[in-house]
Amino acid sequence: MAGVAVKFSGLNDETKSRMREAGIDWLRSGIREFDQKRFFQGEKQPESFHLLKGTVEELRTLGFHLMGITPGPMDMIAEAGEIGSAEYYANYRRLCGFLGREFAGLIDYWQVANELDIWIFRDKLTLEQSAEFLKAGLRGLKDASKQLKTGINITLFPSKPGEVDGNTEKHEGVFIAKSIYQDPSLEVDYAGFDSYPGTWREGGAESWHEYLDAFHALVQNPIIIQEFGYASAGGMMTKEESDSGAFPCQIKKWRFAWKGAHTPEVQADFIAESYRIFAQKPFVIGATYYCWKDNTTCWQCGKSDCPAETAWGLLDRNNNLKPSYYSLKASLDTYFNGGVASKTEISDIIKEPAPL
Ligand SMILES: [Zn+2]
Repeated sequence: MAGVAVKFSGLNDETKSRMREAGIDWLRSGIREFDQKRFFQGEKQPESFHLLKGTVEELRTLGFHLMGITPGPMDMIAEAGEIGSAEYYANYRRLCGFLGREFAGLIDYWQVANELDIWIFRDKLTLEQSAEFLKAGLRGLKDASKQLKTGINITLFPSKPGEVDGNTEKHEGVFIAKSIYQDPSLEVDYAGFDSYPGTWREGGAESWHEYLDAFHALVQNPIIIQEFGYASAGGMMTKEESDSGAFPCQIKKWRFAWKGAHTPEVQADFIAESYRIFAQKPFVIGATYYCWKDNTTCWQCGKSDCPAETAWGLLDRNNNLKPSYYSLKASLDTYFNGGVASKTEISDIIKEPAPL
């Protein structure tokens, strides 16, 4: 499962062909066209939702597979009911079931919400409520079809309170993981893991060994790396700046780096070394690179000159291929599928979702 994080809609022919040439066969995205208000009012979904279904059908015809992401707590509207109430969870289960059914035969793999161990994504939910929320979503998708492959993702692992924003003595990542993977009443097909060693946390590509081996021991499920990547821009904080606890957006610099820098070349090396390690671990059944293209503005602070959320891409803002693109292409060709990138038609090679 060689994926990239990108919106399903709006991909032009050049983009799709560049993805195929690189050996990318999985796309991961939320369903932004879903209209929650209409859903809870019992009304039909808008035209844009139906257009998206057509887009997804086209992507499948081209040989791409899709990982859908269900809405998170921050997306939920008041009509879903009071947060933490039985009605709220039941509505979320119903909502996920609806999405699973609407995209039956089109989206086979789902990730319920995103990184609920992080406070930003948990929104107003407590950790305990977040676990219930995830369980409701997982059950909803299985209500739609037992054939759907479902899972969740976390990022605060290994737990190092204070090192990463939002990681406290509550060990948020471990708490969510245990709540889900140690509940025998839940059907989970994979464990999603997101990590940014060298950018959002200490370490580098070599950290995957420790992270993945320990995570697999904890979750006892096949692992899909739902997000990994390296930012190719941004200077480094001084010791004083780092000690002050400043967030990268505030001073537009990074606290951590691999090989001491955030450049397009180090980003490319990070990708190659990461895939080399993933390929050594049979329990890692897929990885999704975050993300396809550099953003024009940072989604966290809104600034265009902030490196925090603008330089993760395989393409730059002007659609030029970065060294990271070539590195990813060569890595997939070397380590997976016996050289998918050298084939012209991915659809000829991949007809069914990868078996677990
Ligand atoms: Zn920012």
